Formats: sequence, structure tokens, C-alpha cells
Amino acid sequence: MADDPDTEHRYDAVVVGAGFAGLYSLHKLRSLGLSARAFEAGSGVGGTWYWNRYPGARCDVESMEYSYQFSDELQQEWRWSERYSPQPEILSYLNHVADRFDLRRDIQLDTRVDAAHFNETSGRWAVRTSDGASWSSRFVIMATGCLSTANMPDFKGRDSFRGPIYHTGKWPHEGVDFTGKRVAVIGTGSSAIQSIPIVAEQASQLFVFQRTPNFSVPAANRPLDEEEVRRVKSQYGELRRMASQMGFGFNTRSVETSAFDVSEEERTAEYEARWQSGGLPFMAAYSDLILDKRANDTAADFVRAKIRQLVRDPVVAAKLTPHTTVGCKRLCADSGYFETFNRANVTLVDVNEAPIEEITPTGLRAGGKHYEVDVIVFATGFDAMTGAALAIDIRGKGGLSLRKKWEAGPRTYLGLATAGFPNLFLITGPGSPSVLTNMVPSIEQHVNWIGDLLTFAKQRQGERIEANVDAEDAWVSHVNEVAGATLYPTCNSWYLGANVPGKPRVFMPYLGFPEYVVKADEVARNGYEGFSIE
Ligand code: FAD
Ligand code: NAP
Repeated sequence: MADDPDTEHRYDAVVVGAGFAGLYSLHKLRSLGLSARAFEAGSGVGGTWYWNRYPGARCDVESMEYSYQFSDELQQEWRWSERYSPQPEILSYLNHVADRFDLRRDIQLDTRVDAAHFNETSGRWAVRTSDGASWSSRFVIMATGCLSTANMPDFKGRDSFRGPIYHTGKWPHEGVDFTGKRVAVIGTGSSAIQSIPIVAEQASQLFVFQRTPNFSVPAANRPLDEEEVRRVKSQYGELRRMASQMGFGFNTRSVETSAFDVSEEERTAEYEARWQSGGLPFMAAYSDLILDKRANDTAADFVRAKIRQLVRDPVVAAKLTPHTTVGCKRLCADSGYFETFNRANVTLVDVNEAPIEEITPTGLRAGGKHYEVDVIVFATGFDAMTGAALAIDIRGKGGLSLRKKWEAGPRTYLGLATAGFPNLFLITGPGSPSVLTNMVPSIEQHVNWIGDLLTFAKQRQGERIEANVDAEDAWVSHVNEVAGATLYPTCNSWYLGANVPGKPRVFMPYLGFPEYVVKADEVARNGYEGFSIE
């Protein structure tokens, strides 16, 4: 690939993706005086919130925290309507950001980056896009998203189905009317858990195909009233600072207490209070819930008892009850999920008892039984964390391909860069806390950090920034060691790649927030140790 196309196609930086990460990257690069162009495969900006339009899609980190803080004017002027705002509102917010900061003129939509090859002589990246064009840039910022590549299990006969098949992460823009339809939903992760109660209200019959029962807590979503909004806005800075010190990067009311520092009555009361107030802070009730199986069992048993109370048929309740560790797959937050199984038009199919054998022209066959349906919804998740980056033919020094380098699992330094690929940066890449945190502040932290690094390099006339192999090896070992000391690797989650057949089983995110930020700042203070800047 040519790396010196005409000047029109030369930029200081190419940004891949225009979600939360791509938009802020573009803004940051411009503020540093760099020319930048962003490419986005979708027909609009917004990333996750552009693609995931399934019924019930909303955030599960509170909107007033799940939003940018780089501009105080922005956070003061935007008005969120609900505690957990629905997808259309988050998408409007991101469109507002694109307009407010005049980002659109440097974003090329409907364009996929297919390849990026590093030219060692020129020190520039040659980037090829799906419209056949070539681009030359010094830096490549991968803002491709952790959950942006749909996982579509290849069931036998999938293409023979005569009705529509939808994936929650590629939902049609015109919406889907399930009224009077017989519907199959495959999967019971966060996307399924949000959509199932709504689909059940419309469909004549809903069959839910469950492989692994999931832990879910009530979201307790509600409109935000003026007083609450005013209060948060009047102390935004302080609230953001407090959140940055919490284990997941948002206000979880986390404590240092072990589950066994308190009596059983106190513990149950704490779980009940968190169940009532709703959402992911349930997991922050005690500091050892994800470290000690006995502690975890106290929380898991609490949720299991709730499921038995909420679901009238004890056989269905038993099938919906997870036997695994609460929180080691991402905890879900729902609005009436378990209660939905009390409806006469909803049937739970446990695919462990009745494996999906094939998709037929008129439905699904599982456990020898045929389920006639008009529509199939794949709520089967994503090739998470590495899927989008590895879909691009990325080649670094010596023609080394990223696919080859990450064959046995992703290897990065701080989740920000990977040795052998100079001037290529990952936003919330594998090896950073990313999906284990409120992702918007994590994205901002990465973009700010990379911005500072580019400034540092420029001041020293450094043209090439590359992670050192030793620093990367030490970081990868550290990431694995920290994960290994927890309960996370004990269940088949997408954090481990276990949802995608053939994917190496490696715990991909870094479990250490806010320690990660302290470490990243220390690396910067020490002259970006672990990087070569030449
Ligand atoms: P994305 O939003 O995924 O954007 C990446 C963009 O890159 C996509 O638009 C994609 O089309 C584009 N792209 C990828 N490859 C290419 C290519 N080769 N060429 C061109 N374009 C490309 N996180 C939270 O912290 N709290 C939440 O409540 C929360 N809710 C979520 C709900 C859903 C339904 C999902 C799926 C995820 C949720 N997440 C949540 C995680 C969410 O992905 C992040 O919070 C955030 O939106 C990620 O932003 P991003 O810009 O990094 O990636
Ligand atoms: P997911 O959590 O990976 O869930 C996918 C579901 O599909 C799982 O139940 C999985 O079963 C099932 N599945 C996958 N392959 C299957 C197969 N071959 N046969 C049968 N079942 C199969 O995906 P998701 O629900 O889209 O959520 C992904 C992540 O996005 C979440 O964890 C979260 O981080 C984010 N998200 C957040 C929200 C929110 O509330 N804000 C909403 C949606 C998504 P197994 O469990 O057995 O693998």
C-alpha cells in the first residue's frame, strides 16, 4: 500500500470509529493542532448508541455519570431525562457533541478502515478504507470499541429461516414491531434482559433460549427531577472526582468492609437496600465479593432467593437461577425481567437440556422439538475487546500482523499500545480497565493520556512512539496475575473470550481501577517509561 498519497489524503492522525472514544479523540487531536480524520463504518456517529437500537436499550451506569466531563459547559447544558437514559437520548447527546464541537467536517461516515500498514522508512501509516481510498497518517487511534463486533453463532440452517433475523447490536433503524408475532430470543445477557420484557408485551408468543442463567438486579430506573439535576450540576466537579476514586469509576457507594465483618442480618439488610435502590452498585456492597467465593455466595444466594420470589413457577425459577458466581459475568440491571416469565405467552427453553440443533425455514429445533416462530432475535453479544481491531489488517514493523501477534491473546502495554506497532494507540484496549468501569471517564482518561504523550514526544522532536517489549511483557503478566487472584476467571464470560468459539481464553480487561490511573500517571511522570520515543 502506498503511504504517501496526495496531500489531500495526508493527516497527522487517523481515528478509527466515531463513538464516545472517536469523537473525543478527534476533538483532542485538533486541540493539539494536529490534523485528523475519523472513519466510521456506520452511517452516523454514536458507536454503541448508533448500533444498539433494540427495545429497552439504555445505559446501566447513571446518565449523569455516563457522559463526558471534558467540557464543563457541555455537562452543565445537557439535560438527561432519566436516571438511566434510553438509547435514543444517548445517541442525541453524541450527535449534539459532534455538532457542538464542530466534529463532523472531519468524520467520514459509511467508511470502514480495512487495513493499516506501517512503513518503516517514512514512519507513517498507510491506511486503506472500504471506499478504495488510501490515506497516510503519522498516528492511528483505534477507537473501534470493546463491544462493536456482533457475535452471530453459526447455527446449522441459519440462512434458511424465511423470517427476519435481527442481532441486538445491529438493530434496524425503523424499529421492529413484534405485535402479534411469534418470537425467539437467543441469549440472556444484558441486551436480552433489557429487551425481553418489552418484546413479551408485544409478541403473541415469546420463546427465550437460555444457555447460561444470568444474575440481574432491578435497575430502578426513574425520571430525573429538576432538584436532583440541579444538585448534581452544582457539585459536578466534586462528584466526578469522588467517582474517579471508586472501584468501577462511578459512584457505587463502595466500602472497604468484608462481607464477614458484619452479621448475617446486617448483610441481608445491605443487599436489600442495594436491591431496592437498584443498579450495579449491588456488587460494591462488600470489598471481597469478587475475591472470596464464600463472600460471593452470600450475595449470590440473596439474588437467587429474589428470583424464587419473583418467578411463580418453581421449575422455571430453578432454570432461571444462576449457579455461578455473581459479578464474574457482567451483572445485568433489568426492568421486570424475571417477572416476565410469569406471563402466559413467555416460554423459557433451557438449551442445556434442549440444545439448539438447527434453524429451519419456519423456526428453531431444540432438544428434538420444533418451535415455530416469525422472528428470531440474536441477543448473542459481541466478539469483545479484540474483535473490531483484529477485523482490520494491521501490520507493524517488519510486516508483523496484529492478528499473528495476538494469536494467543491480546498483548499490550497499559492497554494503550502494543510493541511492534509504533504510533498506533488503543482507546480502552485490552489490558486496561475499560469494560470493568464506567467507560466514558475511562475513554477520556486514555485520550487525555495519549494527548499528553504526543505533546511530550513533540517537545523532544520524537517522531516514533513505541511500547517496549519488556514493559509489555511485565504488564501482561501483571494483568493476568491480578485477574487470577479474583473469581473473574472462574466463569465463561466474554471478558475471557469464552463466548466466541476458538477465541483464546485470556482475561482481557485490567482489574485495577483507580490504581490503573495512578500507574499511568506515574509512567508519564517518569518520562513515559516503557515507551521508546525516537
Ligand atoms: P463504540 O461506541 O463501540 O464505537 C466504536 C465505533 O467504531 C463503532 O461505531 C464502529 O462502527 C466503529 N468501527 C469499528 N471498527 C471500525 C472500522 N474498521 N472502520 C470504521 N469504523 C469502525 N458502558 C458503560 O460504561 N455503561 C453503560 O451503561 C454501557 N451500556 C452499554 C449498552 C450496550 C447495549 C452496549 C453494547 C455497551 C454498553 N456499554 C456501556 C459499553 C459501551 O460500548 C461504551 O460505554 C462506549 O459506548 C464505547 O464507546 P467507544 O467509542 O469506545 O466504542
Ligand atoms: P452477552 O452478555 O455476551 O450475552 C450474550 C448471550 O447470548 C448470553 O446469554 C450467551 O450465553 C448467549 N449466547 C451466545 N452464544 C450462544 C450460542 N451459541 N447459543 C446459545 N446462547 C448463546 O451479550 P450482551 O447481552 O449483548 O451484552 C454484552 C455487554 O454489553 C454487556 O455485558 C454489557 O457490558 C454491555 N451491555 C450493557 C447494557 C446495559 O444495561 N447498559 C445492555 C446491553 C449490553 P452464555 O452466557 O452461555 O455465553
